[in-house]
Amino acid sequence: MTAQIIDGKAFAATLREKIAIHVAHLKRQYGITPGLAVVLVGEDPASQVYVRSKGKQTLEAGMNSYEHKLPADTTEAELLALIGQLNADPKVHGILVQLPLPGHLDEALVINAIDSTKDVDGFHISNAGLLATGQKGMVPCTPLGCLILLREFCGSLSGLNAVVIGRSNIVGKPMAQLLLRDSCTVTVVHSRTRNLQEIVRGADVVVAAVGRPLFVQGEWIKPGATVIDVGINRIEQSDGTTRLVGDVDFDSAKEVAGAITPVPGGVGPMTIACLLANTLTACCRMHSLPEPDGLTA
Ligand code: NDP
Repeated sequence: MTAQIIDGKAFAATLREKIAIHVAHLKRQYGITPGLAVVLVGEDPASQVYVRSKGKQTLEAGMNSYEHKLPADTTEAELLALIGQLNADPKVHGILVQLPLPGHLDEALVINAIDSTKDVDGFHISNAGLLATGQKGMVPCTPLGCLILLREFCGSLSGLNAVVIGRSNIVGKPMAQLLLRDSCTVTVVHSRTRNLQEIVRGADVVVAAVGRPLFVQGEWIKPGATVIDVGINRIEQSDGTTRLVGDVDFDSAKEVAGAITPVPGGVGPMTIACLLANTLTACCRMHSLPEPDGLTA
């Protein structure tokens, strides 16, 4: 048996087209252009690449993109003052502070200073609480992208056994909350879990967010299960070059799973598409306009 490969890149492109159509409608009908402000502190090369890519895709969707690049020695007071300005700016519907921040800045303090209705990363404490209590808020982009893919490829998730590997605030925990919301029976496993492989073997849906290259082996997967690989790991090859791999050993897992996301080209492209989706959702909510279907949990 060879798994269906879930083409996250193609699906994200379709999602971005849908978003662009709705943005064009907002402009035409109401004269409103959704705006996303991205704040980058310092010069971390990976963060610079992400921010460039986010800015480009924001503009391609027809939204306004506001980039704020601050030096690495920016003080907490200066950063909070900028966030205050963006919170008050009616042209800005979404605010994203690129993480990680330099060590002298308190990430939780900074994220919680963002107006929670503009918190398109979904990391604000209010949004975490709203998600945990099943209420409407902003949902973190990566788990939202995984959920949208799962709904697309599994149909109803109700009653399925789902195992989430990893319990981070950014991926594992919100992923588990979303699966629970869709009526899965959810187990979260982590570095202290006993019999992890056995637990994974009972799962109809596996979401791997571990940060360990090729961690999940094909022999752990229940035949026909859907496997979503969130991991992004760079490994060195024998010829000295590097390649990107996920947290799942794709080659062995695809022989057992029913459907599986590749790395790259699986969850990664969905994350930025969901950032645009969240910006559009925030804009619609701010103006009390109907939200487009299928863009949130
Ligand atoms: P974290 O390091 O914050 O969390 C990793 C989790 O995996 C922890 O809960 C940890 O358990 C668990 N873990 C680590 N080792 C083991 C083990 N041996 N057995 C079982 N569980 C283990 O990572 P993130 O959640 O931020 O990210 C996970 C992966 O997803 C990374 O590869 C990251 O690069 C990628 N990522 C991809 C995104 C995308 O857009 N595709 C976006 C965000 C992340 P414990 O809590 O006990 O330490």
